Amino acid sequence: MRLILLGPPGAGKGTQAQHLVAKYGLVQLSTGDMLRAAVKAGTAIGRQVADIMARGALCPDDTVVSIVEERIQQPDARKGFILDGFPRTVPQAEALDRMLAQHGIALDAVIELRVDEDALIKRIESRIAQTKARGEKLRDDDNPDVLHRRLAAYREQTAPLIAYYRRHGTLRSVDGMAPILEVAAQIERALEEAERTAKPAKRVAAPPRRRRTAKRPAEKPPARGRTPKKATARASSRRKAGDRRKGARRRTAAPKGLPRRPRA
Ligand code: AMP
Repeated sequence: MRLILLGPPGAGKGTQAQHLVAKYGLVQLSTGDMLRAAVKAGTAIGRQVADIMARGALCPDDTVVSIVEERIQQPDARKGFILDGFPRTVPQAEALDRMLAQHGIALDAVIELRVDEDALIKRIESRIAQTKARGEKLRDDDNPDVLHRRLAAYREQTAPLIAYYRRHGTLRSVDGMAPILEVAAQIERALEEAERTAKPAKRVAAPPRRRRTAKRPAEKPPARGRTPKKATARASSRRKAGDRRKGARRRTAAPKGLPRRPRA
């Protein structure tokens, strides 16, 4: 199974991805995690994106597309994966389509977690407060200013993907504001529905059946020793004779509504 989880920051994509990993044995491919790991490791990509991420802006499409392309080819991703945080722009979605087509694989569903932005801001603020209270280190982009910028980036650059995937017919929306387990149950139902509706499409995609050729009737065994040609010729002359008789009757019949002329 290959899925995309779509939703603004804080919508619960990571949490739901973990449920799906446990349930279906898929791997979670989070571009945010991959980029953070690159920053931590101080790789060339990490150095390129560190400031961008800290500001809450989106990293360049080419950079993110190349790390996803490399990642989906690794053996653990062959069975299926959940893309969490990717694609985030229409060019990324187009690049993903091309990449999947090249590898001969298709997306099963795009799950949109629908959320209310005000409630989301409160949710993230409380997550930040809880992390601080536990004495844990905050992520660089876990502060209210950056959060607002990340939400703006989502509205402007990522939200158009909802229409993109609706056009593709792969979009399923669930209520991301519901309790975690309820969201997980909604996602499962959405995936079952996606599977049900995908089956007829697969049947349609099967190679077309061979069309009957005009020669086909002649391949039938000839009836009672007659050759098919003669049988057809006889049937046709009988039809013609019948038509002539009908035509004659039609011509001699009295027009409707008039009394028949008595026979002489
Ligand atoms: P996330 O953990 O998914 O919220 O991502 C954290 C940050 O990583 C984002 O604010 C972006 O700066 C960067 N990032 C993650 N995924 C992408 C992506 N698909 N395209 C561009 N930037 C990304």
